[in-house]
Amino acid sequence: MVEPRVYDAMSKPIVGHLDPFFFEVTQAVKTGLNACFGTANEFTVAMSATGSGGMETAVANFVEPGSKFLIFANGYFCDRLTEMGKRQQANVIRIEKPWGETWTPEEAREAILREKPNTVAYVAAETSTGCWTDGKTICDAAHEVGALVIADCVTALGSMPIEFDKTGIDIAYSCSQKGMGCPPGLSPFTVSPRALKWLTEDRKSVIPTWYLDIKLLSEYFGGAKRYHHTAPITAFYALHEGLSVIADEGLEARFTRHWKNRNAFVAGIEAMGMEMHVAKGHRLWNLMTPKVPAGISDMGVRKHLMDNYGVEILGGFGELAGKVFRIGLMGVLATEKDTLFLLEKFEEALKAQGFVPKASAVEAAKAVYKAA
Ligand SMILES: *Cc1c(COP(=O)(O)O)cnc(C)c1O
Repeated sequence: MVEPRVYDAMSKPIVGHLDPFFFEVTQAVKTGLNACFGTANEFTVAMSATGSGGMETAVANFVEPGSKFLIFANGYFCDRLTEMGKRQQANVIRIEKPWGETWTPEEAREAILREKPNTVAYVAAETSTGCWTDGKTICDAAHEVGALVIADCVTALGSMPIEFDKTGIDIAYSCSQKGMGCPPGLSPFTVSPRALKWLTEDRKSVIPTWYLDIKLLSEYFGGAKRYHHTAPITAFYALHEGLSVIADEGLEARFTRHWKNRNAFVAGIEAMGMEMHVAKGHRLWNLMTPKVPAGISDMGVRKHLMDNYGVEILGGFGELAGKVFRIGLMGVLATEKDTLFLLEKFEEALKAQGFVPKASAVEAAKAVYKAA
């Protein structure tokens, strides 16, 4: 859901795409995004594109034709990265895990040292599975073999820490509409000095797309302020306000709020006698994937919530079709009130499908809030 203040910002007068005020907005957006990413990067912009556009920007700029592109594949968005790598004519290699699992540091390191790729990509927060992949070992090993690391931070940004600099990520992208609580349309995008140096000094072939060429974009958002494309001004106002909302709450407070709600939600699920799909320690803070209990129709549960309460939760797809629910509690929805409301209605919907809960989800979640 979108923050109310963000809706207000979207009704403000639209200036030109070369107006000095617009560049004040992009400057503030850069500062806010750097805080969310956990970086001091000089090149941080909001691409005029959705998350997939950010993904394509990363691949088009940092994966050369004929180069070796290693993808840590454990969900749907890893497959999209694979497809983009192939279209850039890279030699794509995948190291696979079942959807919802992630690699041990030893496995990640071994794969990178064995393959010696030019570029590595992983999805930090896999929206299709609810699984977090930690990038520290991936980045350390990649740098040992001289590779750059792309991290998909689409769902995570704004709801949980990315720690771009500490982790050693080289390129990261996100979207405006998930953890950030803004409308869709922009893709936060950041590049390390190391990756920029590679792009300007070491890349051999021309960047195959004009629109997503970040060297051209840096002349628009950066020093020269030269026309590149007509930026969607209203989307920038929205992201700017969304970042102000985050700054007003405080990044740490916002992260803690999501973490606390996730923990309360999981306690509720487990109290009912259900299981989470992702192992403890690897779960996202804003998107939860409880397993569908045996014999229960996930469609029936979802329809009950939608028809009676206008609450939309999603099902699994691909490897996880019919096996998990995907439930987002992020931004304005990551509150005690909304979490308890959802658990109560979720339990009711499950019961309507014939599920018999072991104990009350709401009482277990309340106990977590009380203890915190
Ligand atoms: C949503 C999502 C994308 C794609 O973003 P769009 O804004 O839908 O283009 C990419 N990666 C992940 C992990 C996502 O969750």
